[in-house]
Amino acid sequence: MTQRMIPVPPYDVSQEVSLDPQRTCVLVVDMQNDFVKEGGKLVVPTAAVTIPTIKGLLERARAAGAVVAYTQDSHLPHDPEFPIWGEHCLVGTWGWEVVPELAPQPGDLIYPKRRYDGFYGTTLDHDLRVRGIDTLVIVGTVANICVLHTAGSAALRWLKLVIPRDGISALTEFDMEATLRQIHFLYNGIITQCQGVKFKA
Ligand code: ZN
Repeated sequence: MTQRMIPVPPYDVSQEVSLDPQRTCVLVVDMQNDFVKEGGKLVVPTAAVTIPTIKGLLERARAAGAVVAYTQDSHLPHDPEFPIWGEHCLVGTWGWEVVPELAPQPGDLIYPKRRYDGFYGTTLDHDLRVRGIDTLVIVGTVANICVLHTAGSAALRWLKLVIPRDGISALTEFDMEATLRQIHFLYNGIITQCQGVKFKA
């Protein structure tokens, strides 16, 4: 196999994004033991370092009154995803649980999902609509898989997207850059850092 070197097309990284907490949901994608913790079934090596960064963002979001939601990859035995990825996130196992540092708090929303897209087969769309939410800040893993599919699905619904790049993680640098480029270029998403996400008083 020959490796090809190609440049990553540039995309803007915003220093600061000011959001109305009443119309914003921070969505944590699949920060579960199997993807994040040593001994997990499908560990993303850079996912663990995003934990404190995400935690800080969630604390500020809750304090400001923004909705905090989680997707939780949830598979049953013999799931057709397993021939692709191997067995992971089996419902009820340790690997399926959200990492304890980011454990959902009372009032947070949790969406178990079977596939990459957090909207597919869940009530996420309905729940955001009835709360008048028009902006989704997405953090979590895996960047080019569940983060990207969920971001695409949100963008098709005309939700505004904010992606703090230090809050997402990928298996390779290529996957990370491809994800950010796609979200910015195709979905008009704002790329920033977790610290750059500000909630209006
Ligand atoms: Zn899965």
